[in-house]
Amino acid sequence: MKKSKKTKVTTPNKCACGSPIETDEFICDECADDLYYGIYRNISSDMKVYTMEGEIDVDDYIEIVIKRGIGPVGKCCICGKNYIRGGNNPKPVNMENGARCCYRCNDEYVLPARIDETLNKCGKI
Ligand SMILES: [Zn+2]
Ligand SMILES: [Zn+2]
Repeated sequence: MKKSKKTKVTTPNKCACGSPIETDEFICDECADDLYYGIYRNISSDMKVYTMEGEIDVDDYIEIVIKRGIGPVGKCCICGKNYIRGGNNPKPVNMENGARCCYRCNDEYVLPARIDETLNKCGKI
């Protein structure tokens, strides 16, 4: 019986965002940047992530996320880098319909802008 040979993949792997990546990698550097930032901002001091399935180590969690898929991905409307996992709502920094931003811009620009907005509203009462 002939052994069936698997066709060799000659094209480079692609990240969910479309960027070419090494065959042993799952995501490109830019998507990894947002992934790691988004995860590390939410972990406890003992490096655990709290999920529906319970507490898990951050490294295991990252592996699960990458396996499940990091999409939808796109370009952050604030810094222009990739956002992953659907991104974040950039209002009030960007009020355009459908605009999304990365985790870092969400923390650096969007959340402070929302706090300012809330404080201004309170000041008017
Ligand atoms: Zn990517
Ligand atoms: Zn951004």
